[in-house]
Order: sequence, then C-alpha cells, then structure tokens
Amino acid sequence: MAKTAQATGEETPSPSLPQRRERERGGSEGPPARLPRLIGWQGFTLNVPETWDLTGFSGNDGAGYLRIDDGEEQGLEIKWSTERSSGKGATPPDVEARRVTYFRALKDTARKKKLELAVKELDTYRPVVRPERTVSGFSWVGDRKAYGAVWYCSVCRRVVIAQALGERTGKGGLKAVAEKVLGSLSCHDADPDWRVWSLYDLYVEVPRDYALLSQQLMNVYLRLTFAKSAARLSVEQWAVANVARRDAYLDAWVGANAKGEAAQARYTPEEATVHGHPAIRLEGGPAVGLPMAEVVKQVGRLQRPATRFTGLAWECTVSNKIHLVEAMRPPAYADPVPAVAARTLCHRPGEEDEEGGSTP
Ligand SMILES: [Zn+2]
Ligand SMILES: [Zn+2]
Repeated sequence: MAKTAQATGEETPSPSLPQRRERERGGSEGPPARLPRLIGWQGFTLNVPETWDLTGFSGNDGAGYLRIDDGEEQGLEIKWSTERSSGKGATPPDVEARRVTYFRALKDTARKKKLELAVKELDTYRPVVRPERTVSGFSWVGDRKAYGAVWYCSVCRRVVIAQALGERTGKGGLKAVAEKVLGSLSCHDADPDWRVWSLYDLYVEVPRDYALLSQQLMNVYLRLTFAKSAARLSVEQWAVANVARRDAYLDAWVGANAKGEAAQARYTPEEATVHGHPAIRLEGGPAVGLPMAEVVKQVGRLQRPATRFTGLAWECTVSNKIHLVEAMRPPAYADPVPAVAARTLCHRPGEEDEEGGSTP
C-alpha cells in the first residue's frame, strides 16, 4: 500500500497547510519524549508527533485507508477491512495469510519500479499487542523503510495493516517513532457510543450511528458532515475568527458563511453559552424553495423527513476560532447538537481567555 498511497477523499487536504509549516519541528535529536497530537478518524485514534497530520484518506467505517505524515519523510499508513459478523465457533481471520498477500503486493510494486525490496516477517510486534488482537509483525526496506503489523481485533472485527514509514536508512529515530505511534493506535473507539474525529486543530466526538458523509478540509476552514438516515449533522470550524468576522454579529456572520445544514435552513437565533463563550442557538426548519423539494423527495422515499433544524455557534476568543454545530433531522430523532457542541473542543483546558470568558 505504500506505493499506491494517494489521497482519494472527495476533497483532499492540502499537504502543505500554513499551520503545519508554522509548527515547530522536532529537530534532529530524535523523536519527542511525548507524542502530543491526537488524530481520530473512522474509529482509529492515535498520538503522533506535532508535525504530523492527516494527509490522505479513502473508504468508510467498513474498509478504508488512512495516511498521516510530516509532509517530508516520516509517517504512518493504515489500511483496514471488516470481517462479517462471525458465527459461534467461527475461526478468526489468518493474519499470517494476510501478511503473505500484503508482501506479494509490495513485491509486485517493487518489481515494476525495479526496486530492491527486503521483507522480514516477525512473529509479533510488541507495540501493537493487545489482548483482543491476533498480531503478525513485519518490517521491510525498499525505497523506504517500514515497521508494522497486520492484526485482527475481535472487538471491532477489523483486519488492520498499519506501518510506520521513513527514510530507508531509518534515520530520525524511525524505529522508536514507529513503536510510539503504533503503540498508541487504537482500532476502535473507547466509548462505543461516540466516535472521535480529530485532525488539524479540530477535535469533536460524534454519535457512533452518524457516518461521515462528506468533508471539506482547508487551512482556515474545516467541515465534517455526517448522516444517519435522513438526518444530517455538520461540524464547521473557522480559524482566525476575529479577522474573518471583523465587526459582524455572530448570527449574521454564520448566516453568510455556513455551508452545512444552516445554509438550507430558516431559523431564529437566540443567545446562548457554549464552553463559557457567548453563543447563538439556532432553531427552525428547512428554508422554503429547493430544500423543501428535498423534504418532499424524502417523503416519497418513505423516509421520515428531516424537518427540524438546530444549531449552536460560538466564537472561542482563546483559540481564535468560530464553531458551528448544526443538524437537520426528523422530529422523532433526538437532537444531537447540544451534546456534540459540548464535545467539540475549542480550546485546551488551562488556556486563559484574556477577554474574560471562562474555561469549561
Ligand atoms: Zn479494534
Ligand atoms: Zn474556547
């Protein structure tokens, strides 16, 4: 998979975000003592060096691919698929056979590229060993060097191939970085009801039954949109809020900039508080016109139509960001917005708000 690693998301994140360039690099004295950055995507969570972030992804909860790297030489790739619910007494998948298949694909690619490739099988790979996993480890050296493992997890039923990659000489403390990063990698959410989505400077937890539908990942703007039947839920984040907003009132600003469900809604704003920041609460339904046609279409499909709109928007003066959590849902569905807003972290605990807002 190293050779075919390309972002295939519908909207691909830029590999050279300004915020990434500004981040302090670790220097040449090896990996940092702690891995400070949390990444969360499709049930995987892991800690990585500060200079690493999500640079490629495809697929969904069932099967997919994820790449996280420093934009230069070191990174991590994860490829997963999900076994069908196994009946009583069913044997778990053979991870050694999966490793053979993976090595074959690696060798094919190397031959086509006329590269030398040396692969090494390991009985296990200690950093990824967990009671619920069957593990088969490996390392290889080709145009790059990799440490990783294939495992099957009996909790999430995923078969995972995960490998840390770096220069073929292993420089930059690759072996140690690989152990730390892969050691932190979870293949399923700690809380089965909530999924962690964490990338760039966004951290949010979303109900597990809402699946990622689309995303927009840019340096100053991030949007994740989720679906559960006819219901839609979006989390939007704008960075450098004070520059972007200037003197506009928050409700007017959100009305002009929202690209999620709020863009197709009619609502009344009310004052609220989120994470100690002044906020607006939006409540209403679909806007007349085209979105109403969408509602009628949903009726035709015998889906309960999404006719309730709610949103919460707030400006975090500590992190200098504006957040909007919004949902359009059938009336019978519980409103996910307050809980998701509470789980959308705008600033780290302990960071002071100089403008008087309180920390949560
Ligand atoms: Zn798992
Ligand atoms: Zn905040």
